[in-house]
Amino acid sequence: MAVGIKRVVDNDPAYWDAALETQSRRDWDDLKLALLQKHLRHAYANSPFYRSSFDAARAHPDQVKSLDDIRRFPFINKRTLRDRQLAVPPFGDLVAVPERDIVYISASSGSTGVPTASPFTQGDFDDWIDYEARQFWSSGMRPTDRYCHSLNFSLFIGGPCVLGAQKLGALSIHAGTVPSERLLQILRQFQASIIWTTPSYAWYLGETAQKEGIDLRKDLAVRRIFVAGEPGGSIAETRNRIEDLWGASVYDYYGLSDIFGSCAGMCEEKNGLHWAEDHILVEVLNPETGEPVAEGERGEMVLTTLKKTARPMIRFRTGDIVSFTSEPCACGRTAIRMEGVHGRVDDMLIIKGVNIFPSDVESIVRRDHDLTGEYKLVVERINHLDQLTVEIEKIVGYNGSDEDLAQHFSKRLKSVTGVTAKVTVLPPDTLPRATHKAKRVEDRRTGVWN
Ligand SMILES: [Zn+2]
Repeated sequence: MAVGIKRVVDNDPAYWDAALETQSRRDWDDLKLALLQKHLRHAYANSPFYRSSFDAARAHPDQVKSLDDIRRFPFINKRTLRDRQLAVPPFGDLVAVPERDIVYISASSGSTGVPTASPFTQGDFDDWIDYEARQFWSSGMRPTDRYCHSLNFSLFIGGPCVLGAQKLGALSIHAGTVPSERLLQILRQFQASIIWTTPSYAWYLGETAQKEGIDLRKDLAVRRIFVAGEPGGSIAETRNRIEDLWGASVYDYYGLSDIFGSCAGMCEEKNGLHWAEDHILVEVLNPETGEPVAEGERGEMVLTTLKKTARPMIRFRTGDIVSFTSEPCACGRTAIRMEGVHGRVDDMLIIKGVNIFPSDVESIVRRDHDLTGEYKLVVERINHLDQLTVEIEKIVGYNGSDEDLAQHFSKRLKSVTGVTAKVTVLPPDTLPRATHKAKRVEDRRTGVWN
């Protein structure tokens, strides 16, 4: 399989690696099974942690005859990574190669506890960068593009993704996280055609540009925006409004610091995110029972690496609630598609017994053009009952009554989610604008910010 050979670009082929990307579902499964068997043997033979955890679960790589046999193996989670790293510093005993083979580490910015390091061999790193190039190609990047990488470089897994753009042949601008005025200056000076940032920052940056008198369509050349790090990029209403603001096309990406910078991304069809199936095996499980859910249903995403030799990740519980489809995509790629991250197991709100995610609310907020698109959820316990308040902002120049706006919103929320909420309409620019990951849920039941 000729993975990673840069194609002749004169006639602009549709795929980075056509043979791999358009193979049948059956070929995908055969490929994944072969990779899984080899990877499990590698983990068992070379990682002290996996040898003992597989033995304790009476699971052995030789028992794996089908992809379902992955279910014989025990789960790991973020805590496993942290605990094993503390027990065997500095990288933990999930590592399955000698340190001399490790050439790169990223560290996750985990909101609680010790950051965990994710090590790569040179082969792992090259695989990753090739995958990034493939993903960028599928989102329409070509060697003629000027790509401005606006993600953090400091220990962050998103940083080196810029090398995927370089491998593809695009001119790559390593901007990193700089103040908005400086970033706008860079975009303007070099007439960058693509940028990558978070959805809330794309929005903030666009609004900042407008306030500074920059015409996003005329003064800048940004035609594609890649976003990641928040659910917004997969919510059509949010994407549409960023697209309207910039006059650019928005593509959602999904990454996980403990595996890859991006593990999935949107093709030109923007109908879900094609998954890196030759690198990472996906299970979608009921978070309570650990049993698989039917295709298309929501469940917790559990991931197993298939190639990453430095630190194999076997059955890593991500805490992300997702759904997947294997239906054919009009782009011709056959890899399964993630239909967005609906939320985190731990930021799923249960209001009077009904499950609701911030992303459910976001899709309603962003559809109403009398609203700015900013919102905040406040959950309180009043007289032993959960009370959800949704704070929304009206746009400048809205002439109707706040009551109508609130009533309309609360009806829509009820019909979409089944949850009854108090709705507070605020003047424009009241809610804090997020410059990185937006914090839009305040759960006063515990006094903890999500
Ligand atoms: Zn597609």
